Amino acid sequence: MYVLFAAITGLILGSFYSVCVSRYGTEASIFYPVRSQCPNCKVPLGISENIPLVSFLIQKGHCKHCHTKISLFYPSLELISMVWSILAISGASSYAEWLLLLLIGGICIVASAIDLRTFILPDVLTYSGAIIVLAASYTGILHVDFRQALLGGSIGAFSMWAIAALYKLIRKRDGLGLGDVKFMLMLGAMTGIHQLSTFILIASICALLFTLITTKGSSNISTRYIPFGPFLAVGAGITYLYGEQITFFLRH
Ligand SMILES: [Zn+2]
Repeated sequence: MYVLFAAITGLILGSFYSVCVSRYGTEASIFYPVRSQCPNCKVPLGISENIPLVSFLIQKGHCKHCHTKISLFYPSLELISMVWSILAISGASSYAEWLLLLLIGGICIVASAIDLRTFILPDVLTYSGAIIVLAASYTGILHVDFRQALLGGSIGAFSMWAIAALYKLIRKRDGLGLGDVKFMLMLGAMTGIHQLSTFILIASICALLFTLITTKGSSNISTRYIPFGPFLAVGAGITYLYGEQITFFLRH
């Protein structure tokens, strides 16, 4: 029963994240206009067209009015939010921890989606995320010791900055953005220093697999810019929930 509850909560939140991402950089605010509209025909969406994921499936991915194809991007955010909510409730030891993981997951999903679209990780998300994670660790809601979290965040961010500086020195161009460094402050704190290497390993494997699949062996891999934020978020989420098991598996 609690899985269904988590799934529905995740879908509703995912729909809100879609609104945040689609309105980022536009004149619309998160809360106004209240009703979303079709980006093509601008018709405001009715209640039946606003049910997360379900509307997309019923309308077979097309606008009810102008029949334009709806981008898969937004339903994907709802799906990811649903999966995260289910995994988080299964892995959390209290409802407080689950709610906090939803908040952290929300920040990660919105930041990653904006990074994918604009190559920007907004400061307001990365900095507030870091403060939330550290405060939650201090109060004991997250199962990461506060000192571990402080070290994980600072050393993670410093390593990311060092890699970016080294890359720039060798290749004479930016490889990683400062946004990734700030995001690392939040995510390194979430995994703690003891899981930092597992986290970076998973994020790097995800980024590598994604690059290989999307470029299909094309030769211009090294010149293509790939946002690293989404992979950092996935790596940190997996490490927070399953890091102990993964580390155990890697050592035996
Ligand atoms: Zn339309």
